[in-house]
Order: sequence, then structure tokens, then C-alpha cells
Amino acid sequence: MKVVIMTDLEGVAGVVSFEADSYSNAKYYEAAKKLLTAEVNAAVNGVLAAGVEEVLVIDGHGPGGICFEELHQAARLLHGRPLAPASVRDPIIAGYDAAMMIGQHAMAGLATGNLAHTQSSLTIDYYKLNGEFIGEIAQFALYCGGLGLPLIFLSGDDAACREVEALIPGITTVAVQQGLSRNSAISLSAVESRRRICAGAQRAVEQHIEHPLTPLVWKGPYVLEKRFFHTDDADRAISQPGVERVDGQTVRLTGETILDVIFR
Ligand SMILES: [Zn+2]
Repeated sequence: MKVVIMTDLEGVAGVVSFEADSYSNAKYYEAAKKLLTAEVNAAVNGVLAAGVEEVLVIDGHGPGGICFEELHQAARLLHGRPLAPASVRDPIIAGYDAAMMIGQHAMAGLATGNLAHTQSSLTIDYYKLNGEFIGEIAQFALYCGGLGLPLIFLSGDDAACREVEALIPGITTVAVQQGLSRNSAISLSAVESRRRICAGAQRAVEQHIEHPLTPLVWKGPYVLEKRFFHTDDADRAISQPGVERVDGQTVRLTGETILDVIFR
């Protein structure tokens, strides 16, 4: 079995601030990367114990969230911005059997989601897919679904866990933080977070082998609506082919397949 692990920085135990922790100029950015990398390594240990043979870690945090030198020796890292084209990236991901998310936060606008945002905390008000509010969790789960992979495990704050459980009943989750507000949470200790992630990731693989989860697929065609905080971001968005304006701050794109819209 081969597993791909998507990572983000804002749902890691100990990370509570965009300005102090997760922006690339943040005072504790390097420290936050080390915390994420240790959580990822805990997940790698867990899946290896469950018999997984190959692990690809994806660095999903915009300016980079993985401390490369400290990454588990059994893992490989897919990283770099701008992302490789979908035509290059998608066949690689499609070669894996299941997906996980580590360090994940809830969608933009959730008051008790610690560091809740969707893609850009500075520009995005919300995303809606076929009329439903979605965040990065649904984006990645549906992307994986489009490539035939089920999402089987997530760690992050409790709001992120509830969000994925609503999308994928039966998924294994580990909450390493209780979100209190945008910039406040109760975090488990780093040691306890890693212990729970390791155990949870192992359990997720074992359960998936026994009772397989199915890839997340929503019925098409697909309409993705993006609302920005400012009109100039909508101006930029409509310069892309196939993107139409709904109102000053809102744009829409449509597609026959989920991969046509979900990461555009
Ligand atoms: Zn994120």
C-alpha cells in the first residue's frame, strides 16, 4: 500500500497565529515548521507500522511547511511553488492508494476554527462548490476522489476534524487542538500530539484495509464560486479563461469533471 500525506501548518499543535507562526516572515515560522514535520514523522511511523510500503509527503503550506532535514527517512517530499502543472502532478498522485491530511485547519469563516481560512487568509471570503461551502479539506478530498484515492485520516484542530467527518463518515481523525477563536486554541503537548497522530494513522490504515473507505465523489457538473474580500482579486481571477464574474467580489467557474475546477 502507498500513501500520500498532504500537510499544512495551521492545524498543528502549538501553532495559533498567522503573523507569529505561519507567514514566511513570522517570528516562529521555523519553529512551526519543526512542529509540523514532527507530526508528519509521527504519521509516517504509524502508517509504516500498519504495513504501508511507500509514503509521499506533499508540502501544502504556501511558503513551505516542512523542515526538510528533519523529514522521516522513509518519506519522500513533493514540494515547490508554483505547483507543477496538473498534467504532471495528477498522474503521480493517482499512483497512490490512499490519502491523509496532517496539520489541517477548518474552512474560512468558522469562528471557533483556529486559523480557519480557505487557501488565502488575506484574500478569500469563501468558496462554494455546487452551492455548498467548502474549505481546503473538501478541496483535497474531492481532488483525491477525482484520482480514485480515498481520504482516510486527518489531524488538525477539532473544527477541522468535525469538517472532515461531515464529508467522510467513518474517517479516522485526531484533534491536536481545540480551536477557541481565530488566533486562540488549546493545544495538546507536542509529545502527546505526536503519540496520538502515530496511533491514529496506524489505526486508519488498519481499518481501511479491513473496511475500505470509498473515494469522495460529488455529482457533477461542477460550479465553483469564489468570493474575495476585495474587487481587485476578482479582477485578477476573471483574467483566467473560463472564469466569469458574479458580482464585484465574486467569480464562478464551471466544469464537467471535479479536476476541472477544484484547484483552479
Ligand atoms: Zn491551509
